Amino acid sequence: MIKKIIEDCLPQIASEKGFADLGNRSEYIGASDVGQCPRKTIMGKLFPQPITIEQQIIFERGHLAENIVHESLIQYCGADRYKKVSAQVEVCYPNNRSIKAHIDFVLEDHGVKTVIENKTATIVSEPYDSWVEQCIFQQGLLMLENPDSRVNGYVLCLDLKSGKIAEFKVEYDESVFQNLIERAEYLLDLLEQRDLDLNIIPTKQSVLCGYCAFQADCPAYADKGEIPDDLKELIKKYSVTNIKKKQFDKEIDTLKEVIASYGPFKAVFDGIKASYTVSSMMSLDVRALKANEPELAEMYSTPKEFGRLTIS
Ligand code: SF4
Repeated sequence: MIKKIIEDCLPQIASEKGFADLGNRSEYIGASDVGQCPRKTIMGKLFPQPITIEQQIIFERGHLAENIVHESLIQYCGADRYKKVSAQVEVCYPNNRSIKAHIDFVLEDHGVKTVIENKTATIVSEPYDSWVEQCIFQQGLLMLENPDSRVNGYVLCLDLKSGKIAEFKVEYDESVFQNLIERAEYLLDLLEQRDLDLNIIPTKQSVLCGYCAFQADCPAYADKGEIPDDLKELIKKYSVTNIKKKQFDKEIDTLKEVIASYGPFKAVFDGIKASYTVSSMMSLDVRALKANEPELAEMYSTPKEFGRLTIS
């Protein structure tokens, strides 16, 4: 019952809150759009995809992390009149107000404005380029709106699973900002074209392709041999690790066999608990069940989606 209430209400709350905070995202180019794959950005705005309840709950982690940061910043500012924190600060490009950013937090501390871009992810040693670009884009727009203020920026990464937190100072770079503005203008131009040929939109493959709703007909994946370099590196790493794992598995199997040959035992020594017991259990011959009792097998079968990764 409660599950159903959440499933029914959460999407509505999220959509109302999202609209209140960010407006209609299909009508402008935002900070998170400029660093992304152009095809994904444009397709996402032209053909918004339904969000599953699972995705919605995952998105909510971002809001939880923002609450943690916001409350800490409020506490830090206290009643000090030289300190102030603002959340979801909208800043627009003066030459075209359809290019904008919603900054998670701007902390003002004795005249210095600090852009804080909040990320909820596994802690990384270096911030992703897209995070850094997003932060530079926000700093640039904030500076244009506040030419007399000193502005700096941070990407803050919170891992809600491990409770770890990391911060990355982002140095502002005017040439990167100008490049991002050019990209935003290009995307906006695509978005505003009436008869846009979807096949001409450039693609940018990345680790995020796996989460892209438009991958099925993505031209970047038409040729199965074409995969991004970072994915190639991950596959190589997997392959090497898997070979080591197979060697370990073989060693473990041999050790198990020798240990079991001593017969049943139970022991605790040097902080190790060890036991070997022999018992029997029934196993189900699924193949035979399907062959002899197909209706019964069908009745107790449920479809399950799974991915099979083969790297040899
Ligand atoms: S699958 Fe990757 S390259 Fe293709 S549209 Fe999606 S994000 Fe872009």
